[in-house]
Amino acid sequence: MSRHVLVLGGTAEARELAASLAARPGVRVTTSLAGRVSRPKTPDGDVRVGGFGGAEGLAAWIRTHQVDALADATHPFAARITANAARAAAAAGVPAVVLRRPGWCAGPGDRWHEAASMADAAALLPPLGRRVFLTTGRLGLAAFAHLTDLHFVVRSVEPPEPPLPPDMEVVLARGPFTVEGETALLRAHGIEVLVTKDSGGAATAAKLTAARERGLPVVVVRRPPLPEGVTAVPDVSEALARLGLGPGGNGRPQPKPVDAGAADTCP
Ligand code: NAP
Repeated sequence: MSRHVLVLGGTAEARELAASLAARPGVRVTTSLAGRVSRPKTPDGDVRVGGFGGAEGLAAWIRTHQVDALADATHPFAARITANAARAAAAAGVPAVVLRRPGWCAGPGDRWHEAASMADAAALLPPLGRRVFLTTGRLGLAAFAHLTDLHFVVRSVEPPEPPLPPDMEVVLARGPFTVEGETALLRAHGIEVLVTKDSGGAATAAKLTAARERGLPVVVVRRPPLPEGVTAVPDVSEALARLGLGPGGNGRPQPKPVDAGAADTCP
């Protein structure tokens, strides 16, 4: 009998997980995408697109489509779907795993300023520099809209939505990015300060190296917390193990390890 795994996606890790699951005999995988980007990279296995209608809608989808396990591999800043996933899995009585790539950690030479939110990041900016490279994505830029004295270079996959800062140019691009490319961008735009979410992962980390090499300050927006009682695994192999679908797995989900969740801590 095949096991049906629903992967909540929109990340490279979700595609990697879907590929591993799809390659496993006796497993059927469906990846769910929010439908935010017009030309998403397609994961292996089945794909569905669009919201479920809250935790209740997701629980109903799980029951209707006879899902045996839920893997939340959404972006670390996609807090609403993660909260919904935890509630829906509990309501539908299916095991769930949260896959979160580890956050970034500051190293020697980094000039990082931590912000608890986008609004906090905006409040930190004015003394740090006038020309800002804003890489927090196309949503939530309203937090910077009142900063009329600063020049923003906004990079996003899709065009950003208003309200936006008045003095702004947009660079449409999708990672992965290289240190050489990021350095050239910082230089070409005369960037004085970088703003980023703590997304983690290699695909968009080059900007941090480029900023360090140029001695630039970086405002890092910290991740929203996981829902109460939820812990995460840091990579695909641990997610597969937790689902009981890793090498030698018996198909039965494994209990949470005691130290789970340590993925988000820096030394
Ligand atoms: P969010 O605020 O946590 O979710 C908002 C709503 O979008 C959810 O309540 C849900 O609608 C729907 N949704 C989100 N992810 C979904 C999925 N994988 N499948 C089906 N519906 C989904 O999420 P977000 O921050 O807007 O991110 C949306 C998607 O983009 C996520 O899948 C995430 O992995 C990806 N992404 C986000 C970021 C980021 O910085 N936030 C960056 C890169 C990629 P219903 O309540 O109607 O079910």
